[in-house]
Order: sequence, then C-alpha cells, then structure tokens
Amino acid sequence: MVLANPSGTAAVPIANSGTWKASDGASLYGVDRWGDPYFSVSPRGHVMVQPRGERGGALDLVELVKELQGRDLSLPLLIRFDDILEDRLERLHTAFERAIAQYGYAGRYQGVFPVKCNQQRHVVEQLVETGKRWHFGLEAGSKAELLIALSLLEDPEALLICNGYKDRRYIETAILARRLGRKPVVVIEQADEVPRIIAASRELGGAPLIGIRAKLSSRSTGRWGSSVGERAKFGLSIPDVLATVEALRQADLLDDLRLLHFHIGSQINDIAVLKDALQEAGQIYGELTRLGAPMGYLDVGGGLGIDYDGSRTASAASTNYSLQNYANDVVATVRECCEPHGIPVPTLVSESGRAIASHFSVLVFDVLGAGALPGGVPEPVAAEPLILRNLRDTQAAIVANGSDADAATAPSVERLQEAWNDALKFKDDALAAFRLGYLSLPERARAEQLTWACCQAIASQLEALPPGTAIPEELKALASALAGTYYANLSVFRSAPDTWAIDQLFPVLPIHRLDEQPTRLGSFADLTCDSDGKLARFIDRGHSKPLLELHPLRDGEPYWIGLFLAGAYQEVMGNLHNLFGSTNAVHIRLADGGRYRVDHVVRGDTNAEVLEAMEHDPAQLLERLRLASETAIARGSLALSDARRLMAHLKASLEQTTYLEG
Ligand SMILES: *Cc1c(COP(=O)(O)O)cnc(C)c1O
Repeated sequence: MVLANPSGTAAVPIANSGTWKASDGASLYGVDRWGDPYFSVSPRGHVMVQPRGERGGALDLVELVKELQGRDLSLPLLIRFDDILEDRLERLHTAFERAIAQYGYAGRYQGVFPVKCNQQRHVVEQLVETGKRWHFGLEAGSKAELLIALSLLEDPEALLICNGYKDRRYIETAILARRLGRKPVVVIEQADEVPRIIAASRELGGAPLIGIRAKLSSRSTGRWGSSVGERAKFGLSIPDVLATVEALRQADLLDDLRLLHFHIGSQINDIAVLKDALQEAGQIYGELTRLGAPMGYLDVGGGLGIDYDGSRTASAASTNYSLQNYANDVVATVRECCEPHGIPVPTLVSESGRAIASHFSVLVFDVLGAGALPGGVPEPVAAEPLILRNLRDTQAAIVANGSDADAATAPSVERLQEAWNDALKFKDDALAAFRLGYLSLPERARAEQLTWACCQAIASQLEALPPGTAIPEELKALASALAGTYYANLSVFRSAPDTWAIDQLFPVLPIHRLDEQPTRLGSFADLTCDSDGKLARFIDRGHSKPLLELHPLRDGEPYWIGLFLAGAYQEVMGNLHNLFGSTNAVHIRLADGGRYRVDHVVRGDTNAEVLEAMEHDPAQLLERLRLASETAIARGSLALSDARRLMAHLKASLEQTTYLEG
C-alpha cells in the first residue's frame, strides 16, 4: 500500500474496554518487568521511582518534575537518581558475595567501573565514594580518563585498570602512579606495547603492575560479537601472549604480570557465550601461572547486560540471565578451571559499565504537539464530481458493513479489503483528474479527506474483529498509516544517540495518565531538521514495534514522556547536531519522610556555549546584528522599538538552553 501520511496525523483508536486501570498501563509499557525494582506505576497513573529498590522510599516522578520546573529547570531534563547508582553497585557486590559463598570460592571479587561508560564528574565521584567499602576501582581507556581515575581514586587497594592504546607517556604515568600509592595495572592490548613498557620500566627503575588482554576465540553474538575472535581490534593472540611472557621474563618483569583480561563486547545477550569465554580464559590463566607469572587477578571485562524490554530473552534488548546468574557463572567456571589443577583461584575483577550506570538516569521530555489527520467526512456539496461521490459511497459502505455485525455477520475482512481497494483506486483517479485539470484544489482536498475517512473506518472495524482473525498485511498497515507523529522537545542525537546509531531500544512511555487507556498510536519526531531525528522503535517483549500506544493531547495540559535506562554511554556519545546542546541535569537523593534533596544541578548548554563550540563568537554575532539593525533603522524599515525587541530576543536566547521553552 502506498499511502503517504500527509501531515504526521492523528491516530487509530484502540478498542476501549472501559475498565482500564493504572496497572494495565504498567503492564502495557512493561514497567512491571524492566522497571523492577526502581520504577512502578501509582494508582493515579504516575510513574513512581523507588531509588533504593525494595529497601523503601518512593518519589512521584510527575510531582518531582513539577517541582523541578518550579526551580526554573525546564524540560528536557535528565534526572539522575544517585541512590539507584549506589543500589546497582551494592547489588553487583552482593551477587558476587553470594556466588562466592555458594561455590566456596577461595578468592574475592573486586570490580572496577569503566569510566568511558559515563565520565560525568558527579557520577564517577559518587561511584568512587560508595565503592570504598569494597575497594571498588576504575578502568581508563585514554589519557584523559586515566587523569580522572588517578585523581579520584585514592584507595591504595582499589585497582586502576589501564586499557586502550598506550604511548610512552601513558605508561610512565602508570608506573609513577604506583609510587604515588595507587594500584595501576597496565593491560597490554597490542604486541607493540611490550617494548614500550620494558623501556619505560628500565628508565624509571620500576614497573607498573602488568596485565594481558587475550583475544579469545569464543564467538560472541549480537552487536558487539566482533569484539572477540582472531580478528578483534584489541588483545593479544595466543602466540603473542606467549611471546610477551618470554619478553617480560627476559626483561625481569615477569613478577609484575598479575592480571589476565578479556572483554567480549557490551550487552552480552546470551549467557552461553560468556561461559565459553570464561572457560577459555580460565585455561589461559592456568597456563600463565604454570609459565611462572605470579598472576592473582582474572578480569572478565564488561558486557553484563540489561534487560531493556523485560523479556528475559537472548534478544538484542534483553538478556537470558540475571545479575545473580552472571556472578554464579563467573565464580563457578573460574573455580572449575583452577581448583582441579591446584592453581590458586584469582581475585575476580569485572568492568561492568552498562549494568551499573543504565538505571539511574531518566530523561523526561515534553511533547510540543501532535500531527492531526484531516478528520471526519466533509459535507457534500452540490454537483460533486463522480470521483468524490464514489469515495463517499465507499466510506458509507464500510460503515454499513460494521453495523451489520448484529446480524451475526461480523464485518467481513474480505469486504473491507475490497472497499479499501476501491478507495485506493478512486483516490488515484482523483489525483490523475487533478493533474489533468478536471479537479480543483478544494475538490482534491476533499478526495484526500474522504480517503482518510475510509482508512479510519476500516481501521476501527478491524479493531472490533474477534482476536485471532486473519488480517491481510495491507490492512494491518493501515494502523501505521494513520498513526500520529508526536513532536518531542528533544534531540535524539544529543540525548539518545544509540537509538539512531545502533538501533538501541530504550523503554519510552508517558510518565502520567497511565490510568487512562491510550487510544492512539504514534512515534516521536525530535527538534532536529533531520529525518533520522525520531524515536520510532519501541520495546515489545523480545521484539520491537514501530508505534507506541499514546494518549491524545489535551489543551493546556503538558504531555510528559520518560526515556528510561539510558544512563550508560548516551551522554558522551550525544552530539551537537543542529546545535542542540546538553539538557539540564539534576542529581536527586531520597531524603527522610518521603522527601528528596537536589544534590547537584548541572545546567544544560546555552546557545552561546554551543556557538562557541563551533568557534563562533556570540558577542561578535550580536554586534553584527546590531549594526544591521542600525542600517535598517536608518533605511526606515525597522522601528526603534522593533530593533530593541529583536536585540532583546537574541540576547536572551544566547543565555538560554537550546531547547524550546514550554
Ligand atoms: C566498554 C568496555 C567495558 C564496559 O562494557 P559494558 O558492556 O558497559 O559493561 C569494559 N571493558 C572494556 C575493555 C571496554 O572496552
């Protein structure tokens, strides 16, 4: 079917059961699955946040947004719940502690946070502070990240894992950091780093702790599957591992080889993949100890996945395992690889980023408007051309088809298909007639309106069919042709870049009105002038769907949408497309008595700031415009008062965030 949706448009009514409750809203959007234990829906139909999970305390997200707006924090707004960040860290450690107890593992777990996952100062500081009791460390993949990690991590026990490409200065910094009382582990990712490490160690008369990243042959699946295997970008092949051990031995540095690392890519969907990798790495670890390296740490990398759609499947937006399953597998597999061979079990290290940082931030944006179909059936006029009368008759026949239902002849799918074929034919006739000059512009408009009326009538009859009725694909597609575009005060390139870049799915839903049955289908278009700037894939239990159930907009009432589980990677990957900058962000802490505290406010980029990022000088831009308005005043085309108003708007815009004011 080729039916262009003219104006974005309104949407298909979903059958209204009349008994809709907030719990139906929770289940429709899957909040009760992916949201557990941090997000739920109140009987009022508001999204509730339980920042401490089951340990009690809840905040009404809608009330929170209202109060933040009262503090002049406009939407879109990134709300970071620091309690959730802490809770995630705690859960990770509890899971490993349980597994260690259950399997009688004679070693410890000591994790690190990969800084690349979220480099924001308040986030890293919070993790370091909360992580102290477990000697939780950091992982850096570049010199700038190393600088963050070095300066924030004061605990001499906490690991500072140095990954990424390393030049001489990076390596020397790590060696000196050891003397500073830190615990840096330089992980060799490329064979050519070995001579640099040896030379730097000679020069400084001391070595860093050394790790080796192994390229495993175990195959991963999913988007990051290519992060492993012989052709992976990082890591040493087995021959290189052996050559490195020999080179370190000859340089008298083998005693500093303490860690084996692997990373099989982010968002591991299938636990079987991890098990294979763990077994392979466990064997390599054993070999390295037999070759005389003291070892002591096995770093299983990141990849611990998030169940974005709550389906608990091995599909892209989910995982077929829980955090506890993951910890159990790591502990049990490593133990099996070591104990039978009399090899002391290592301290287990993981570099889980996504699993720690996804839940704690929620992006709330407002809807500015929704496209509407030319609704209804236009009044007949005298002497209407035949083509229009044909469309009118077709529409009437469809409606009549529906009202036959009481005669035990439920609307026949076949008749609907036939009517649709007719409508399309008459619409094409109308367009042809218009091109040839036989139909006026108002007549063409009525023809389009009547076609949409046919479409709408068919769609509402399809809804009334008994479940399980076979519906031709072409008719099914009518729902999306009728779906609405909701205009979102947001840039997906800035705030959810992975939805665009790698088709990542995040839970998206209205944060209020969940006690009201959504009667429309729609997707979101963002503020950018880019046709890719949209949210048009939504979670659907192991699958995805192009349209989301939404509510009709109400005059004078905001419609607020939340994008959840996006605390990992999105902020730093976000870009300045169309010069939309960062959004306002706040850090919220649960306080006693159901209250909260606003710990930090991070103001979004102003227009002046994004202009400066592109080397423009806002003052100079203003000055040029001032001169232009002087010229226009002199010419008499701009009144003095208009000039003043124009300059005031420009100045105010420079000071404000890049988003629309509600
Ligand atoms: C990106 C990365 C991580 C983090 O992965 P997550 O999937 O976010 O847990 C860990 N280690 C290395 C080496 C990485 O490159």
